Amino acid sequence: HAFEDLELREELLRGLATMGFRKPSKIQERALPLLLKNPPQNLIGQSQSGTGKTAAFVLNMLSRVNLDSKAPQFLVLAPTRELAKQIAGVAGLMGMFLHDKGLQVVEAVPQTLPPRGQMLEGQIVVGTPGTVMDVIQRKRQLDVRQIKVLTLDEADNMLDLQGMGDQCKRVKAMLPKNIQTVLFSATFPPQVLEFANLFAPNANQLTL
Ligand code: AMP
Repeated sequence: HAFEDLELREELLRGLATMGFRKPSKIQERALPLLLKNPPQNLIGQSQSGTGKTAAFVLNMLSRVNLDSKAPQFLVLAPTRELAKQIAGVAGLMGMFLHDKGLQVVEAVPQTLPPRGQMLEGQIVVGTPGTVMDVIQRKRQLDVRQIKVLTLDEADNMLDLQGMGDQCKRVKAMLPKNIQTVLFSATFPPQVLEFANLFAPNANQLTL
C-alpha cells in the first residue's frame, strides 16, 4: 500500500515525501480509507502515540480543506497545550506546499491567542478544550459556522483531566450539527467508550 493509492492531492504527496514518510503506517493504512470516504463518516480509533495517528487525522483535514476561505473548517481538541502545538506543527509541515495557496493553521492555546476583538483565522484550529470553549463562547474569537470536522486526540487522557470531558461536550454543542467526528484514544474503558459513542455516533471503529 502506498500514499499514492489514496487519491491525495499532489501537494500532500510532496509534503509527505519531504517529511520522509515513504509509506503509510498500519493505522494510516486502515484509518485513511475510512476517514476520506464521501460522504464523510465518523471514526473511533484505538491507537497509542507513536503509531502515526496524527498524520491520519491531519491528512483527513488537509484533503477536505477549502483554501478559498480562511474561515475555520476543522477543529482539533487535545488534552495539553504541548500536544496541541505538536499537532498544529504536523499540520503545518504536512501542508507545507499548500501555504502559498492559502493554508493557515492556528493554535487555540492561551499563550498565542490574538488580542480581544480579533478573530482566530485559519482553516485548521488546534487547541485545548478549555481555551477553545472560551474563544467560542466568552471571547467570541472563533467563528464555528464553517466547521466540518471535529477531531479529538487522546480522548482517554482528556477524560482523566478534571472537567475536560464536559468542556469537550460544551464545544461540540456549539458546532454545526452532523459534522464528521473523529476520535482517537489509546484505551477504551467503559467511560471512554460511552463518551466516544456520544461524540461519534454510528462511527466506523478501528482497533489495532
Ligand atoms: P504519532 O503517533 O502521530 O505521534 O507519530 C509518531 C511518529 O511517527 C512521528 O514522529 C511521525 O513523524 C512518524 N510517522 C508517522 N507516520 C509515518 C510514516 N508513514 N512514515 C514515517 N514516519 C511516520
